[in-house]
Amino acid sequence: MISRRGLDIRPFMVMEVMEKAEEMERSGREVIHLEVGEPDFDTPPCIKEACLQAMQDGKTHYTASLGLVQLREAICDDYWQRYGVKISPDQIIVTSGTSPALLLLFSVILEPGDEAIIPNPYYPCYPNIIWFVDARPVPVDVLEEEGFQYQPDLIRSVITPRTRAVMVNSPSNPTGHVMAPELMAKLSQFGPYIVSDEIYHGLVYEGKAHTILEFTDRAFVINGFSKLYAMTGWRLGYVIAPREFVRPMQKIQQNLFISANSMVQWSAIAALNQAKADVQAMVETYNRRRIQTLKRLKELGFGIATEPTGAFYILANARRFTESSYEFAFDMLEKASVGVAPGSDFGSNAEGYLRFCYANSMENIEQAMERIGHYLENQESGVRSQESE
Ligand code: PMP
Repeated sequence: MISRRGLDIRPFMVMEVMEKAEEMERSGREVIHLEVGEPDFDTPPCIKEACLQAMQDGKTHYTASLGLVQLREAICDDYWQRYGVKISPDQIIVTSGTSPALLLLFSVILEPGDEAIIPNPYYPCYPNIIWFVDARPVPVDVLEEEGFQYQPDLIRSVITPRTRAVMVNSPSNPTGHVMAPELMAKLSQFGPYIVSDEIYHGLVYEGKAHTILEFTDRAFVINGFSKLYAMTGWRLGYVIAPREFVRPMQKIQQNLFISANSMVQWSAIAALNQAKADVQAMVETYNRRRIQTLKRLKELGFGIATEPTGAFYILANARRFTESSYEFAFDMLEKASVGVAPGSDFGSNAEGYLRFCYANSMENIEQAMERIGHYLENQESGVRSQESE
């Protein structure tokens, strides 16, 4: 007997493309990965050194369930320096990645049957985790023609007495778009708590991302070290919460996870205090790749109405090539050996789109674009020859 919860949870499609790509690689094919949302860079040396030092110093035990107070203080300093917002270490829970942070958070704010508003397109794990705690995601259209921004009137029209939260993710996965501060201010007035996933903060190439805490205290921040510090495999994230929610989340953390990794928490202090130059170099490199990938995708005929300015994603309109992004992505993987994420995984509004992750070397990006160009040419000549038959 397998529980409904175990049967119903959807797979994370990006991981499925990656796993298929890896299977192809094992059989000798050389695949370029533009599907996975992770930095190609190695973690900066100062962070690794801090980890080795922590191990040598015997930091190999459990930590307090909320996380090391030194790390929570460093996170407070970081939010103060970046945004001028004052938070206190007792509002922070450190977790093994932002993914468990989402689970803790949704567990304490959502009763079965409650609703959480999410953008459509969305990061796939949002609805999956919301369903997992027996609540209901309410997707709201975020359209290419509106610059992939929330429309406040639409949000207002779906708020019900059961609405507990509005999810904000800026810069966004999968669109790469940054939310306008006026919009954040407006959403903050609507009443429900705002849950702001700030994991792509710092990866902004024009303008600046704002934390939701600049606009309201009725908000939760989710953040982590995976993206900005190239630490996906280290698994470290955190929640910043209004004080009354900390104790319930702490109890769940104690039972499910006990604490985040000790030496990884010590390493994260080094990330916050010592890795600024490394981060800056990575951001400059991502920006060059962003500009080049945008140029090449447009040349290939993909639609990009407004250019993304954050994260490391481009959600490109492929509707002139396909109606099924899933089939298209797997066919392109099979025939062109380039992995991309099918839009359908990110919600109905991303069907017919492909998400390209440009956290890859310029050489790989160039090579991928060439392969995609050949693939599209063959596809078109296939269609022409079918038509003439
Ligand atoms: N939120 C968003 C928007 C993401 O893109 C990701 C990673 N793909 C996560 C959360 C989870 O990140 P992690 O668990 O590695 O911290």
